[in-house]
Amino acid sequence: MSNDPYAKNVHFCPSCDKDGPETDFEFIGLVPELGNIARYRCKICEAVFEELPPSFSPHQLNYQRRLDFLSAFGEEFSETLSSTVGEDNITPQDAYEITLRTFGREPNAEMLKSLSEAQLDLLRAECQRYFECDGIVLEKIRIAVARTLARL
Ligand SMILES: [Zn+2]
Repeated sequence: MSNDPYAKNVHFCPSCDKDGPETDFEFIGLVPELGNIARYRCKICEAVFEELPPSFSPHQLNYQRRLDFLSAFGEEFSETLSSTVGEDNITPQDAYEITLRTFGREPNAEMLKSLSEAQLDLLRAECQRYFECDGIVLEKIRIAVARTLARL
């Protein structure tokens, strides 16, 4: 068995702390609030976990920190903007999608910390397109980002 985390048909179980062949895992489904990453159950230890996109190696980053970031960003973003766009029109995964559309890459804490005023405004403009809603003020975007970073 290959130990290459990028090899196909191999998954990394964070509970067993090792790679295993696909036959050791049961695919449960996609998790929309975490940006449609896949959820698996390990048949060896019974742990249920979410797998990061293939562009990330679980060996190269703090796995739980990534998940915490995505859920904090999703929650703060939808909570801050819901009064403007309508509670029924926004879900936690929208933060992920809108950031991806705005900057062409997935959000992370370092990216949020480094956003300039101009970039925050790009994010605001993309929000207005995405929700088809005028009147999203820059302050809301700033608050959503600040509250996310404050939780990490
Ligand atoms: Zn396991």
